[in-house]
Parts: sequence; structure tokens; C-alpha cells
Amino acid sequence: MFDIDHLGVAVKSLAAARTFYEHLGLSVVGEETVEGEQVRLAMVPVGESRIELLEATSPESAIARFIAKRGEGLHHVALRVNDLAATVERLKKSGTRLISEDIKVGAGGHLYVFVHPSSTGGVLLELCEDPPQGV
Ligand code: ZN
Repeated sequence: MFDIDHLGVAVKSLAAARTFYEHLGLSVVGEETVEGEQVRLAMVPVGESRIELLEATSPESAIARFIAKRGEGLHHVALRVNDLAATVERLKKSGTRLISEDIKVGAGGHLYVFVHPSSTGGVLLELCEDPPQGV
């Protein structure tokens, strides 16, 4: 089973992006800094999915480099999968190019890995799995 967990959007200013989505009538939740990725992010729930607003906290951040090269915009599409470890193993066997070989732990304990755009038809693809329940 797959769902679109979120769409990641690279923005120069999280505050400005928040204001737009709030004017649109959506609520912006869960603002936090993820040190490991050098980003500050906030989530905009939309139906059963979300928009993830990403602002760089360092010029070295992947988000800063993305904006310098391509400007603000859609950065990645995130699909939620049931068994991320098995999915990643399957992709590795098929020769899929991953951004990093290891599954990382992100905000709220969710697990994620990025698949390189050269393997996906030009879209940076995040695969994620919810943290185990009841722990
Ligand atoms: Zn994401």
C-alpha cells in the first residue's frame, strides 16, 4: 500500500510561505528544525496528505543549494510505504540509485530514504514509514 505522505516545497522564507497558506485558509502545524538536514520545516495538512515547507538553516543545506540552482519550488514527492526496509532492499537489488544507502530517522521518529531523480523520471522521491505504534 502506498500513499502520498507529503509534497516537499523548498522556500526562501518559511514565514512568508506560512502566511500564504494561512491566507489560503489552511493551517500550518508542527514547525521544527531538523539539524541533520539543516532545514527548518512546517507541515500544511491538505486532505489525507500534507505539504512540507522547507527552509534552509545553512548555505550548505541541500535546500539552500536547490534554491540557488533552481529557485523555490517543488523539491520532492514523499510516498509512505508499509515496509521501508524491504522496499529499500528490493530497490537496491534492482539497481536503483539511492541518495544514501541507509534508512534515516526523521522528525517524530519516522523512517525515510531518498531515491535519486535519475532513477525516478526526474523527481527526487522520498520513501517514508511511520514510526512503530505503541512504543
Ligand atoms: Zn519530505
